[in-house]
Amino acid sequence: MRSPSTLYPALEVLPRDLSAYRRGNVGVDYVHRFDSGRPGPHLLVNALTHGNELCGMVAATELLDSGVRPRIGTLTVSFANVAAYESFDRKDPYASRLLVHNLNRIWSPEWLDGPEDSPELRRARELRPVVAAADHLLDIHSTSQDVEPFWVYPGHARNAEVALAIARPAVHLVMPSGLGSGVPLIQYGKFGMPGGAGCALVVECGGHFLRASSELAVATAHAFLAHFGLIEPVRGPQPPAPPQRFELMRTYVVKTPQFRFAKPVVGFEVFAKDELIATDGAEELRAPCDGCTILMPARAPIVGREGVYLTRPMAS
Ligand SMILES: [Zn+2]
Repeated sequence: MRSPSTLYPALEVLPRDLSAYRRGNVGVDYVHRFDSGRPGPHLLVNALTHGNELCGMVAATELLDSGVRPRIGTLTVSFANVAAYESFDRKDPYASRLLVHNLNRIWSPEWLDGPEDSPELRRARELRPVVAAADHLLDIHSTSQDVEPFWVYPGHARNAEVALAIARPAVHLVMPSGLGSGVPLIQYGKFGMPGGAGCALVVECGGHFLRASSELAVATAHAFLAHFGLIEPVRGPQPPAPPQRFELMRTYVVKTPQFRFAKPVVGFEVFAKDELIATDGAEELRAPCDGCTILMPARAPIVGREGVYLTRPMAS
């Protein structure tokens, strides 16, 4: 595990101007598609579902700048929440995650077909056919804390198979019952159905603004394409560690402004059964089992948003 980040993050990577990528070729801004003309799967590599998660932007621009062309099948590269990304302010680099709605919680018919409007809902509605057209999806994210990178995916065997085959990162967060706090992109339509088709993975590449996160994002995008045969196999820098898989037990959503963790946390802390993890007003959040491992503790808890994910190790 890496050491905890300081209160103010090092900004090793900064946003760059994406206006050159705005005009795509499928009628949706910031979406670029390359069809090999040969049979094969249609892969979607998506960046910037959260506007301040810069590593996905680095991977997507690298694919486009290098002139990637699939040997088989079709590749689509998309930048999701460019509006939030463009609101970046280095004095508050976490704020550009979203403008109004979390773009990674609204992929349900209730939101997509509902009456509300926001920049994120408009963008999700635009991107809907792009996501629906893909056979397999890689959604590139990063974490507010500088922790070990990990996969996140619904607990379908078809997802685990691909993440385990790509191998790096070695840590997996498996969601047997989905996210539990809204519908993320990787649970949209067929990707969310137990009997559905296609793999849909999030890769959390590490701290938002670290160069190492961008390097992992680029390597993971290449490995994803290579896994399905769209590009030549790529050799990793080192053999990956054996997989370490965690199962999501509960997504805790913050209820009061008094939410506090019982001790400073960054993620991957382990709690014994009944040990206090956090208090939320009068409510105590205690570990439901021994070995309870917390992931993605909120850096600045907000009422109605995720405070922490409670997981337990799975037998690998
Ligand atoms: Zn994210």
